[in-house]
Amino acid sequence: MELKRTNKFGKIRCACCGCYTITEIADICEVCYWEESIYQEEINTEDDDAPNYISFKEAKENYLKFGAIKLELKSKVREPNVDELPPSLG
Ligand SMILES: [Zn+2]
Repeated sequence: MELKRTNKFGKIRCACCGCYTITEIADICEVCYWEESIYQEEINTEDDDAPNYISFKEAKENYLKFGAIKLELKSKVREPNVDELPPSLG
């Protein structure tokens, strides 16, 4: 099943952690600290240039390992709310 880009509340799905936390383009996801970046998400290379200073691939791996895109950002993130979870987990 293809996940929708937005949920019923109109929130955009974070490409990194999969939770519906984004309200605007260039928002920072409060669950994983990924900054919404079409450029980085679509190219998905080792490009660690702005805005996230880390590649999308690495950010996703770190989220699975630490619960944030970088270990040092772990204190800044929070657990997803129930209404933010992707359908498969909600
Ligand atoms: Zn996220």
